[in-house]
Amino acid sequence: MWLTGSTLGAGSDDGPVPRRDPEDLREARDRRLADVSVLLPDAESRFRCGRCGNLTRFDVVRSSRVREYWHLALAGDPVVEDTEVVSETVESVSCRWCGAQGDEIEIVPRPEAGGPDVDPHES
Ligand SMILES: [Zn+2]
Repeated sequence: MWLTGSTLGAGSDDGPVPRRDPEDLREARDRRLADVSVLLPDAESRFRCGRCGNLTRFDVVRSSRVREYWHLALAGDPVVEDTEVVSETVESVSCRWCGAQGDEIEIVPRPEAGGPDVDPHES
């Protein structure tokens, strides 16, 4: 019942706002894809599966743009002699054991920084 009159009116009053929002949303989404959707461990941290405790085995999907130095033999066979990663995006990380992904994959400190050093699958 209340979804008629006033609610519809409020909805159309919001008209100008959504017109501004899509860009904001797109920016937010790009930002998330770029650096928040998959957080990567650094020198003091590591992945941990929050569902099963796995510390050591993950499937990582990443896309890379690379520049390669191809050295072709006169016969035509190329040998890649140098590879430079121009850009790289990690798209997803999932647990090799239980398939957990997204928020279930945590970043925890490495053992020397006080983090876990026991993997239930490694014992
Ligand atoms: Zn797991």
